[in-house]
Amino acid sequence: MKKIFATFAACTLLVLNSAVVFGWGPKGHDIVAAIAEKHLSDKTKTALAEMFDGHSIVYYSSWMDGIQNSPEWTTKYSHTKTWHYANVDKGETYQTMKKNDKGDVVTALTTMTATLKTYYPDNLYRISEDDIKMIVHMVGDMHCPMHAGRLSDLGGNKMKVRWFGRNTNLHSVWDSKMIDSARAWSYSEWCEHLDVLDPEHVQMYWAGNFEEWFMETVGNAAKIYEYVENLEEENPNLSYQFVYDFSPMLEDRLVVAGIRLAYVLNSIFDPEANVTFAELAEKFYTE
Ligand SMILES: [Zn+2]
Repeated sequence: MKKIFATFAACTLLVLNSAVVFGWGPKGHDIVAAIAEKHLSDKTKTALAEMFDGHSIVYYSSWMDGIQNSPEWTTKYSHTKTWHYANVDKGETYQTMKKNDKGDVVTALTTMTATLKTYYPDNLYRISEDDIKMIVHMVGDMHCPMHAGRLSDLGGNKMKVRWFGRNTNLHSVWDSKMIDSARAWSYSEWCEHLDVLDPEHVQMYWAGNFEEWFMETVGNAAKIYEYVENLEEENPNLSYQFVYDFSPMLEDRLVVAGIRLAYVLNSIFDPEANVTFAELAEKFYTE
């Protein structure tokens, strides 16, 4: 009986481990979507509420991970498998990195949103729920540091570390363990405590494009790799000190991702809202 249980436990762990390979865990995606909701224009909010029959974007924030277990995965969604990340080796940029033939988070977001923006204002009905659920998820993943990790270690998946004494890898630490260890907050409490930026800062984060936003994440990943490598330990044990040192980065990534997700959704459903904000930003910087 014990042996059966041990085998079951090992299988469960294997499933859990493979499940967390693909992005922020559910809480990270919920936080990003909840922050985004606070920055949507009324018109965008209405369009999304109609599209999702009253469900929120938080409700669908991890849908793109979930579909990998759906019966429709092979026939309908398997082409999205690599759209959660882009792996960039040390010293490379998105421009110079070896691109994945099957696509990556930057290409997927860039092409998808470029198409959706052309539907405004008369053809918004052509936008599918799936498109929006994917955008909600991918903007989150794009800001998760190890989703811009190195190709040589598969985004930190092959970089063995311990987390409070337990064996894991650097990718898994950033998907969910950092969030769970940093605070005992619910996703809505994270949102409440992080989303305190003044409007000028919000507009500042709206500048740039997907590639530039992604390169910020590459910079985050580089700092994490450097820190871990400087420990000069085989299988280093990361714990309280790591949580303390990297909490500011974690908070920054979550809040910036949320704000940018709102910008992207507004740019699809209510571009005038963003223009107004941009004009305000320009005024702020020229005064
Ligand atoms: Zn993902």
